Amino acid sequence: MCPIIPRSEQLIHSISWQSELSRAISNVNDLLTYTGNCADDIEGLDTGSPSFPLRVPRPYADRIQQGNPNDPLLRQVLPLNVEQQPTPGYISDPLDEATSNRLPGIIHKYHGRVLLILTGACAINCRYCFRREFPYHENQNSMAEWQQALDYIRHNSSITEVIYSGGDPLLNSDTKLRQLTRAIADIPHVKRLRIHTRLPVVIPQRISTELLDWLTETHLQTVMVIHCNHANEIDEPTEQALQRLRQHGVTLLNQSVLLKGVNDDPKTLIDLSERLFEVGVMPYYLHLLDKVQGAAHFDLDKTQARQLAGKIAAKLPGFLVPKLVFEQPGEVAKTALLPLL
Ligand SMILES: *Cc1c(COP(=O)(O)O)cnc(C)c1O
Ligand code: SF4
Repeated sequence: MCPIIPRSEQLIHSISWQSELSRAISNVNDLLTYTGNCADDIEGLDTGSPSFPLRVPRPYADRIQQGNPNDPLLRQVLPLNVEQQPTPGYISDPLDEATSNRLPGIIHKYHGRVLLILTGACAINCRYCFRREFPYHENQNSMAEWQQALDYIRHNSSITEVIYSGGDPLLNSDTKLRQLTRAIADIPHVKRLRIHTRLPVVIPQRISTELLDWLTETHLQTVMVIHCNHANEIDEPTEQALQRLRQHGVTLLNQSVLLKGVNDDPKTLIDLSERLFEVGVMPYYLHLLDKVQGAAHFDLDKTQARQLAGKIAAKLPGFLVPKLVFEQPGEVAKTALLPLL
């Protein structure tokens, strides 16, 4: 057993999100100490410096149970040696995004919706991420380069929804986001702005007054899809951030990734849906893992996934059952899998 070192008491609201970001935990030993674990208790731990670096902000690390090497939040961020084992069928661009990436920073794959990659960076590095191999250096755009993306949207009148994605789009400054959002809102055929972000969960302070300002001033309908995989990821500061968003008219949805050893049992998924609804978020998608190199150890096969979905569908009202989906390159939408009842 490792000694449990008490975490320093922090006044969460006194630290800006930028400071939280810069003091994020970035090496394995610090993370183990912070969570009361020792390296010997964790089988196959990668103690080197993985090419996809470890990154865990403290507000997230604070929700990891002390002294539990199998904690479902810890498992999402802890680098393991198995990530380096090549697994047949797991590749670096499983969604074939290179094909839909016609202009730098823009992915137009589905009808009516265009996805803008506003940054390649994330506040947290999730080990299973399908973007761990994405060529983000080719998608780092200055405001001037965004003109190209804006022109693309202007000239495609079928685009009614713009999605801010990443990396995590909310790592951009509010000044930049305000400017971009105003430019998008000026395009007559765009009706909705959707933001895909894990920040309300990872660093709740990111839902700042400045952010709510630009989100509220727009006439666009606003939707935020958060990314939460486990009920333990929602603590009080996250609950408060979500409440602020709702009070400002933002529709809140959640997408999760089905992950072996993290949330692959019915009770965990039921608790997650219940907790999400309690804090005003509708479950949207439960994704099968994208088959990205380095993440195979988190994967479940389609039959196991459908059985799990069946077990939660048998216990929850329909509106709390997320749609089980996966992405198939070349399809016009995400592909749904029916629960096995
Ligand atoms: C998932 C996704 C969307 C949004 O799809 P919805 O089914 O509307 O949530 C848009 N563009 C890309 C590239 C996507 O992967
Ligand atoms: S894109 Fe989402 S899943 Fe991937 S590392 Fe960033 S926050 Fe995690």
